Amino acid sequence: MLSKKVIFTFSPQNVERPVTYQLIKDYNLWINILQAKFEPSLGGKLVLELKGEDKQIKEGLNFVRQIGVGIELLEQEVLWDEKKCIDCGACISICPTGVLSLDKETFKLKFDYEKCIVCGNCVEACPLQAIKVIF
Ligand code: SF4
Ligand code: SF4
Repeated sequence: MLSKKVIFTFSPQNVERPVTYQLIKDYNLWINILQAKFEPSLGGKLVLELKGEDKQIKEGLNFVRQIGVGIELLEQEVLWDEKKCIDCGACISICPTGVLSLDKETFKLKFDYEKCIVCGNCVEACPLQAIKVIF
């Protein structure tokens, strides 16, 4: 099973299309919504992770393109160097999808890669350059 992170950009004309529902129902894809911002009169953005067979993902993305929704594939990844990290927590509140948190018992930083949308906010926030975006 493949996993891809994508950004869908909706216009006011297609903002009300139930795209995620159709991807699940018609293309048998597993979907995890990482971030959503919608303003019906302006359009919106949806950041999500798709999981499924290669063919299903390709066909699902073709369908999304055909109805006029913009698609951007997130090909970058974020690398966290645990050895450099001093668990200061400066990167936590700046993360829009709740990837970063301090473990309640150990006070060590936890990094939930599955939720990361590679926005780069934490890279700039870290005083020790312990986080990098790689291409
Ligand atoms: S790049 Fe950093 S701030 Fe952005 S989503 Fe990933 S962990 Fe959070
Ligand atoms: S800002 Fe840098 S040093 Fe501080 S917790 Fe985050 S990754 Fe670790």
